Amino acid sequence: MTTINKNYLKLPGSYLFSTIGKKVREYEAAHPDAKVISLGIGDVTQPIAPAILDALHAAVDEMGTAEGFHGYAPDLGYAFLRETIARHDFQERGCDIAPDEIFISDGAKCDCSNIQEIFGTDNTIAVCDPVYPVYVDSNVMAGRTGEYDEAGERFHGVVYMPCGPENNFVPELPEGEAPDLIYLCFPNNPTGAVITKPELQKWVDYAKKNGSVILYDAAYEAFISEEGIPHSIYECEGAKECAIEFRSFSKTAGFTGLRLGFTVIPKALKPEGADLHGLWARRHGTKYNGAPYIIQRAGEAVYSEKGRAQIRQQIAHYMENAGIISEGLKEAGYEASGGVNAPYIWLKTPDGMTSWEFFDHLLEKANIVGTPGSGFGPHGEHFFRLTAFGSRENTLEAIDRIKTM
Ligand SMILES: *Cc1c(COP(=O)(O)O)cnc(C)c1O
Repeated sequence: MTTINKNYLKLPGSYLFSTIGKKVREYEAAHPDAKVISLGIGDVTQPIAPAILDALHAAVDEMGTAEGFHGYAPDLGYAFLRETIARHDFQERGCDIAPDEIFISDGAKCDCSNIQEIFGTDNTIAVCDPVYPVYVDSNVMAGRTGEYDEAGERFHGVVYMPCGPENNFVPELPEGEAPDLIYLCFPNNPTGAVITKPELQKWVDYAKKNGSVILYDAAYEAFISEEGIPHSIYECEGAKECAIEFRSFSKTAGFTGLRLGFTVIPKALKPEGADLHGLWARRHGTKYNGAPYIIQRAGEAVYSEKGRAQIRQQIAHYMENAGIISEGLKEAGYEASGGVNAPYIWLKTPDGMTSWEFFDHLLEKANIVGTPGSGFGPHGEHFFRLTAFGSRENTLEAIDRIKTM
């Protein structure tokens, strides 16, 4: 008889965004005249930039010719894209990453969740709390955690590293036995916080000393506006021996629908002496069907002179929204952070409201949808996430409503 992977049953019933969707639909059904504005959008909204569109068209046409046809992509992705990435994202920032240490994929979500497969199920994991839920969920499904504790809103066997105003939303090094796999995400989703280079260096030194591996999610690196904030973990000394980095074209260049990302696995990273780089080349799933030739050409165009200028404008658009939200919230008396190096604004709920109480309050009083912080981890309780991906008009209107609610 067929059995199932019992670890899947440990996942709590309802997914954050389906609960939000249900509540919004119910509210709209009861209040058909309400104009509900979402500041909870986790997806980009700007259309694909012209330079990228041109590259897509050209690659499509190439595929219809005998000389330009491309079948299965090479294992690591096309050299033209890996070389471009290595030069612009790493070498120009002083990081010694070679093109053949880069694995092109169909997005960071798959890589962030699949990476744990090349590590033993006996490894312990640590995550920032709050954070993007994919790291914990993938480890739950793989059996690397215990059961879900409803009351504590956490899984047994996971080291949750609290991130709050008390530590500028950057976790402290764990006390006691060192976790084996340490997930760090900076700029952070959902808090919008960043880590400084000396702070990140402490993590690298800690991982090296303890034989841990850092899984560094830099999906929002392109949103960093402040000088001196590291864009890559490989800006830190010794990171090649202890860190894997994930990147995505999704938020940077609007590829959430096109799908493109990459993972860096340095050849010097050898837990138990194993050739991790070689093992990742054998992974299942995305090896051949991850990122089509056409999309990899589109990714290359992101780094062209025109592409870079157009992308910068799109990011500037989102970050202007972020500024409108942060400033507006502060004027309205909220305690808010983020929104400077990431498209996320993280606010403390007023009057001790829980995250879900504030969700209902905002929906009812201002017809605005956001994301309850508790959905990103137990330490996200009493916080709330707003995003800068909406239109300028809606963002302005939403802030006006919050100010007068
Ligand atoms: C959006 C996001 C990703 C990646 O998404 P893909 O679309 O799968 O590339 C990765 N990490 C974080 C923290 C994100 O918010």
